[in-house]
Parts: sequence; structure tokens; C-alpha cells
Amino acid sequence: MKYIGILLFILFLDSFNTIHAQSKIVLVIDAGHGGSDPGHLSENPNHLPEKDLNLAISKLVGGYIDQFLTNIEIVYTRKEDSFVSLDDRVEKANSINATYFISIHCNANDKKHIHGTESHIHDFNATKAVSFAKELEHQFSKRAGRHSRGIKDNGDREHTLQVLKYTKMTGVLIECGFLTNEKEANYLNTSLGQEVIASAIFRAFRSFIQAQHPNVNFIKDSNSPKEKGNVISKNSKETFTIQLMSSKTAIEIDKPEFQGLGMEVKRLDLNTQSAYKYLYVAGTFTTKEEAKIVLEKVKKKGFKDAIIIPK
Ligand SMILES: [Zn+2]
Repeated sequence: MKYIGILLFILFLDSFNTIHAQSKIVLVIDAGHGGSDPGHLSENPNHLPEKDLNLAISKLVGGYIDQFLTNIEIVYTRKEDSFVSLDDRVEKANSINATYFISIHCNANDKKHIHGTESHIHDFNATKAVSFAKELEHQFSKRAGRHSRGIKDNGDREHTLQVLKYTKMTGVLIECGFLTNEKEANYLNTSLGQEVIASAIFRAFRSFIQAQHPNVNFIKDSNSPKEKGNVISKNSKETFTIQLMSSKTAIEIDKPEFQGLGMEVKRLDLNTQSAYKYLYVAGTFTTKEEAKIVLEKVKKKGFKDAIIIPK
């Protein structure tokens, strides 16, 4: 009897571990550089150094995940402007047994015309990393309107990337754009640019984990029995809105351009240090398909840079 008891206990522990492993994933978000290491710099003295852009985008990505997804624990390698060695970043991710690792950087090149996004993986044999990287570049090029330079692995680089080589989990290092390209540096220095990049990373991560863990619910509140069927449930489910534009100074929303859309336009004060302080959004959609139809109309009415963002 004693042995059966122990056996049952082991089986219980084992099933508990299995359930636990399936229901929650741990994501490390690694904002590149920091503190005494500024990373790449733009020629424009008004621009932020790479370390600050990496941190801003990292926090936005984490914020979207917190807001819209569940069953994900986020661990940041840094949350402020501090120096963290590459060894410490790797060690942190490995010691907590993280499921995924996303490192966020901005790029530079001597040739100033070079621009676009890149998703780096350790090597092309890592199939999970490849599918995540593909989803990222797809989101950057098809949804965020960026130029995608594609997926790069160890063979494409002159050096190995330590955070990808020594972390034990599936990891991708994202290069959000080139600070040596004037146009891209300008873009990355706007809160609009940072939000577009971060929401693309968010959407790519969401599709990737949904495909990798089909038995886990990642969408917040959809399974909450307490809220099922009532108004709160409808509001708390993921919805989308259309981001029309951003501006440095507040524009009145009763302007004819906005009025011509026939939709209620809201001006959001981003409360940011960046040059672009106001964001203009319109509509609430429960599916992307719904939002896409309206997006086409909005673009035809002159808001060429309009995009769909999570609400
Ligand atoms: Zn970097």
C-alpha cells in the first residue's frame, strides 16, 4: 500500500507538472544595451540612442501582452537605463527556464541608404525560431509597412550573437530599423513609429504562440465564466481600432478631413517626451477583417499611413 501511495503521489506530481507546463509560458523581453552602453547612435543629436529606443519598444511590447493576453509571465532583463552584461541576460533567461526570448535592438550601417527590419536567429535548423522570425518579418512588411530585410542566422553574420547562442530557449533578436538611415531614425524616434513596431512584434508573438500551444488560451477574458455573456465580456475581449495619424501639436477633431470619415475620431494625448504627442484613432472592431474593410476606405480618404492597432 505504501508503494502504491508513493506511486500515486508521483503520478499526481507528474500530471501537475504537465498541466503547469502547458498552461503558462515565460517570455523574456531583452532591451538591448543600456547604461554606459548606448548602442548605435543616430547622426541627429536630437535623436535618442539605441538603448532608449530598445527600452521604449520593449516596454510597449510587454504592455500590449499584459493588456491583451493571459497565461504569459513577462520577465525583463532591464526595465530602466542600466547596464546589464550579455552573460547576465543569458543567465537570467536560462535560470528561470524561460520559454521564449525576444531581444530588441536597432541597427546601423556605414551605407546610409540601408534601412529595414531584420529578425535574427541562431541558426536555420531551429524551426520554432524560424517560424517566429517569419511571422515577425511578415508583420513588419505586410502590416506595419516597413521594408523587411528578412531572417538572418549565424551564417549571415560576421559574429555570433551571444544572447541567441547561449540561451536555451527559442529566441529571436529583432533589429527594428537602421539609425544610420535618416528617414528610419526619424521614424523610430516618434512614438507612432515605436508603437507601430511594437504592435507588429506583439501580433507576431501572439500568432506564433497560438500556433505553438494550441491547447492554451492566450486571449484575455475569453474563458472567464464570471464575465461570459455580459457587457463587460464584450468590452474586455480583444478589439481593434484604426490609427489614423499622429501629430506634434493638438489638431481639432472637428476638422473637415476627420468629419469626412463619418466616424467618431478620438484624439489621444500620449503623454510622451517624443515629438509626436497626439494620436488620432477611429472605430472599434471585434475582428481584424472588419477593421481591414474600413481601413481601405480610410486610406482612400487621404489617411495613407493609417493602420490597425489593438485597442
Ligand atoms: Zn544593438
